[in-house]
Order: sequence, then structure tokens, then C-alpha cells
Amino acid sequence: MALRYIRKKMDPVLRKKTAPVSRFTPQLLDLLDDMIETMFEAEGIGLAAPQVGISKSIIVVRNEDKVLEIINPEIINGEGEELDIEGCLSFPGVYAEVPRFNRLGVKGMNRAGKSITINAQGLMSRVLQHEIDHLHGIVLIDKALRLLTQEEINKMNE
Ligand code: ZN
Repeated sequence: MALRYIRKKMDPVLRKKTAPVSRFTPQLLDLLDDMIETMFEAEGIGLAAPQVGISKSIIVVRNEDKVLEIINPEIINGEGEELDIEGCLSFPGVYAEVPRFNRLGVKGMNRAGKSITINAQGLMSRVLQHEIDHLHGIVLIDKALRLLTQEEINKMNE
């Protein structure tokens, strides 16, 4: 396992639409392991492959003490809207108010290539939407209704 460099802000790979994964190779397993290690090291709760420079449809998300890996994730349904504050490992120091579905259904595949379906709500629903956006070249500032001011961020970190 190895840490990967997290791409930031204007890096073009963050704006590219990713390609689906079609082959489940040992390299894919290495990438998943590296993404998980990188996410924990950076104290993030989710990471998408473009954030480590790989333009493929892969996300990892932390769900309490478990890690969810989803390959080729697709949103199959979303319900309810919730406005909350979000950050992103690719935009250090930026916090934004972003509306998201409160309940979400996602289908995709696990690392063995088996179909999986995930139903999420609240924070997990938000994180999944954020990471899936990355796979379409969309970042949080695109969907933000408002960016928090430095004063608000200082208050939040108190
Ligand atoms: Zn992000």
C-alpha cells in the first residue's frame, strides 16, 4: 500500500468525466487499497479516483468503522433535500453550503466485480453524492449555494 498525492483545485483531472472500470485487475485492488490509505491519512470521509489522478469511476467512503468501495457507482434514486456544510480534500480550507438528497440509492460493483446496492441517508447520502459528482468532473463549488466566510470557518473550528 502507498499514499497517493491528492490533486487540488484547478488540476484538470478533477474536471474530466471518468471512464467506467471494465477489468478487475490486481492494479485495481492496489488502487483501492491506496485510496483507502490516502483517505484515512488525510482524515477524509470519502475519496474519488480523480482526486488521486486516476480518471476512473471508483469511490471509497467511510461509514463509521467500515469502508465502502464502489466501482462504477450510479445513483438510482434520491429523495428529500437537505442543505448542509461540505468540505473537500481537493479544496483545503474551502467550506460550502450544498443542497443534497437526504436519502439515496446507489448501485455499483465491489472489488470482486459483484453487483451491489447501497441505501444511504443523512451524512452518508451526502458523501456518496459528493464523491459521485467527482466522477463527472463536478466539484463542490459548482453546486454550492454559498461559500463560508473565513470568519464562519474560524467559528466552526473553535
Ligand atoms: Zn471532494
